[in-house]
Amino acid sequence: MRKVYNFSAGPAMLPEAVLQQAQAEMLDWQNSGMSVMEISHRSATFTNLIEQAEADLRELLNIPYFYKVLFLAGGASNQFAMVPLNLFSEENKTADYIDTGIWSKKAIEEAKRYGQVNLAASISREKPQQIPPQTDWDLNPNAAYVHYTPNETIDGIEFHWVPKTGDVPLVADMSSTILSRPIDISAYGIIYAGTQKNIGASGLTLVIIREDLIKQALPNTPTLYQYIVHDQNKSLYNTPPTFIWYLSALVFSWLKQEGGLQIMAEKNRLKANKLYEFIDNSGFYRNDVHPSCRSWMNVPFSIENQDLNDTFLQEAENYGLTYLSGHRLVGGMRASIYNAMPLEGVESLIQFMQHFSNLYG
Ligand SMILES: *Cc1c(COP(=O)(O)O)cnc(C)c1O
Repeated sequence: MRKVYNFSAGPAMLPEAVLQQAQAEMLDWQNSGMSVMEISHRSATFTNLIEQAEADLRELLNIPYFYKVLFLAGGASNQFAMVPLNLFSEENKTADYIDTGIWSKKAIEEAKRYGQVNLAASISREKPQQIPPQTDWDLNPNAAYVHYTPNETIDGIEFHWVPKTGDVPLVADMSSTILSRPIDISAYGIIYAGTQKNIGASGLTLVIIREDLIKQALPNTPTLYQYIVHDQNKSLYNTPPTFIWYLSALVFSWLKQEGGLQIMAEKNRLKANKLYEFIDNSGFYRNDVHPSCRSWMNVPFSIENQDLNDTFLQEAENYGLTYLSGHRLVGGMRASIYNAMPLEGVESLIQFMQHFSNLYG
């Protein structure tokens, strides 16, 4: 039994069953007499793992055959550069970006190094924060792509709809929302996601890319920043982070056993609704995101009297609820409640929050 509920935004909580399996297989993986970490990434056993991981991911997300899946190192932040380097061409170096928070801004700053960014829409700074409807966006029909962030991990702002961009490829940074519910892959040109949020451990990045978007990158693009190189080498151009690939494969298999993404969606919706409902009715805590775009995955909240933050975090820690502090850029509190967080974890948090507000409210 584990001793705490971990509400960290990432690296994040992993399913207990996955950790137990990794522990059981640690000294002898697949009758090799070795751990998975010590095995060649080009061996037959590891090749099987890679193939099974991709097959499971394709099944979970219902990925059409004309999309490739790349398993890359470097984190989601690397994709901030890889997307423009690979989707821009000498003829067209303009892209539309939607700014909904801190991670969108980072993607925008990086893209500006390689071409022209058109800020097609920005979130309001007034509270409650709300994503502008697409009718208010200023999209350029000749853009090389449109980039957006379906879930802003730090701000707790999430799209509950998919933008429509016609023939212009839609690129999504799904780092903190991938696998939390079914998605229509065919609406996207590229989906990328770091594994350390809703999948668990850090070190790997998934890129789901429509085949026709894999083409020559801009001149002078470093080899490892070219999708075409990773595609041609089946994500094994150089040594990949094998242990995280293995852990991610265990998580995919766990998700299948749990019943797939429709079931995860129901669980995630229930967890988030319970927590927001409690916050809204508490008269002590608040969340400043408009209900139409509140995140199911990351729930920021604050206490009117900011002086109580440290006490809250310390007492939560004593209660077995860890990593509840907000991101260092925004302060306050944040509960990240990804797939691996059971409903009991959220109920335990609500119980503690109630107890705390009784004491200090
Ligand atoms: C965490 C996060 C990132 C950055 O991921 P790294 O793997 O640390 O580069 C980018 N985008 C979103 C939405 C995130 O949540």
